[in-house]
Amino acid sequence: MVEAHKHYKIEGEKVVRIKKECERCAEFTWMAGHDDRWTCGKCGMTIYKRGRRKVV
Ligand SMILES: [Zn+2]
Repeated sequence: MVEAHKHYKIEGEKVVRIKKECERCAEFTWMAGHDDRWTCGKCGMTIYKRGRRKVV
């Protein structure tokens, strides 16, 4: 019997951080992820993933 390994199928490395906390708001305020930036729906701050940031 060599079927046991079937139960350990690996889904790949899809577990990535898709959420980011806003630096300005309180904790657990999640920013919305876009292709190139994060935006906070609460205070409007935008953080670009390339490092730049824009404070509204
Ligand atoms: Zn915010």
